[in-house]
Amino acid sequence: MKMKSYTLRESITLNGIGLHTGVKTNITLNPAPLNSGIFFNRTDKSVIIPAKWNSVVSTKFSTNIASNGTEVKTVEHLLSALAGLHINNCEVLIDNIEVPILDGSSKVYVENILKKGLKEQDSEQNILEITKPVKFLCNYGYAELFPNSPIDEGLNINLESSFDGKYEDQDIKIRNLNGNYIESISKARTFGFFQEIEYLKSQNLIKGGSLDNAIVIKDKKPLNKDGLRYENELMRHKVLDVVGDLYLSGYPIIGTYKGFKTGHFITNNLLKELFKSEENYKIHKIN
Ligand SMILES: [Zn+2]
Repeated sequence: MKMKSYTLRESITLNGIGLHTGVKTNITLNPAPLNSGIFFNRTDKSVIIPAKWNSVVSTKFSTNIASNGTEVKTVEHLLSALAGLHINNCEVLIDNIEVPILDGSSKVYVENILKKGLKEQDSEQNILEITKPVKFLCNYGYAELFPNSPIDEGLNINLESSFDGKYEDQDIKIRNLNGNYIESISKARTFGFFQEIEYLKSQNLIKGGSLDNAIVIKDKKPLNKDGLRYENELMRHKVLDVVGDLYLSGYPIIGTYKGFKTGHFITNNLLKELFKSEENYKIHKIN
């Protein structure tokens, strides 16, 4: 598998509120030169935070990264959009602590980026291929990464979940995500269960949450008046999160991700397992 490096053709500025903090934030995605990777620039603090698995400082209900104590919260949906569009060089200027939640999916990021267009760069991307299975298991779930079967290519994601009661099919298999992302995944919104809302608020979370940026399920039905965007939107959103969280590896991944009740905590710990030994993967460097 070979893939050119991509950045943005032009800068894009968006603003909105953060899901958990409720703060209003301006965010600008800038084109970046080859070998920059994806990184955040907290303009109000003059701190650069690389979008890497080892910058993660907490994974409770969102993926939060930091450098020298300066944090950017809820990076996963934006990273998912960048991964899905194969953008590997981008500077993200942000003037507050949390990435705007927008509509709760990565759709707004994807649409705005595609409107301005991608810029192909003069070098191939480095790609990480899984060569040995790795697994992370905790008391409620697990995730593993293993080499693709001979008929699969790119990144494949197989998830199972177990929400309380039946809202939809609680398993999903996405084969060869590359090329599938925009239509099948990017529009899936984040979600919560009505009975958990009071708890999340008591934890000082979801201060910016509303039916404009999240699906809320009550009595096995969405409270959102327009219903769901996909029949299995919840599971598709879990795929969207996995794609974003895996992009903190710093590479597009060739391999299969399989998990049960996955979330930000499990995926980040899986990346820690992966990078424990260089026998687990091979980096295809073209240049
Ligand atoms: Zn999410």
